[in-house]
Amino acid sequence: MNHAEKRLERYGSDSAAILSAAQKRIFNSASVSSEDCVFCKIIRGQLPSNKVYDDKGYVAFLDINPFSRGHTLVCPKAHGETLWDMKEDEIGGLFTAASKVSKGVMHATGAEGFRILQNNGEASNQVVAHVHVHVIPVMMEDKGKPMGRIKVGPEEMASLAEKIKQAIG
Ligand code: 5GP
Ligand code: ZN
Repeated sequence: MNHAEKRLERYGSDSAAILSAAQKRIFNSASVSSEDCVFCKIIRGQLPSNKVYDDKGYVAFLDINPFSRGHTLVCPKAHGETLWDMKEDEIGGLFTAASKVSKGVMHATGAEGFRILQNNGEASNQVVAHVHVHVIPVMMEDKGKPMGRIKVGPEEMASLAEKIKQAIG
């Protein structure tokens, strides 16, 4: 079953009209099967990650190429490419998990603010075709500065993850 068929099955024929050909073209994301999906591999434990949170439906781990120390990705365990592949209660659960994770991230890093970012489709710079919410802590000294990737070594990543995990509880 392809993504369009899955969406049709999930949302029914009424919503099929919403998912017009033009909208599908705008999304234009690289579809990946769960088997080949990098985040599914992390969720299945086939790839390593600095995990900070894990519940029945959602998981969070540090971004490998972060915008700031403590930059975390929150994902549903079920594979889906964009927000439109999720049911509304699953979307609610995802953002509830992101809010929970944000408190741990803020506490562990001492950040003064955080950004929530969620990309859908190639045009938005979505690179990994598995829905995820970025939780990006921001220090006051970085207020107003453009976001750029930073380098954080493996030991610091592991220690940050441990602190965030403890802070989430
Ligand atoms: P997107 O642009 O799709 O919203 O964000 C994908 C994010 O996933 C990027 O910030 C990127 O650094 C991160 N990422 C890509 N591959 C991996 C990986 O294998 N492990 C982890 N932890 N993060 C990844
Ligand atoms: Zn996946």
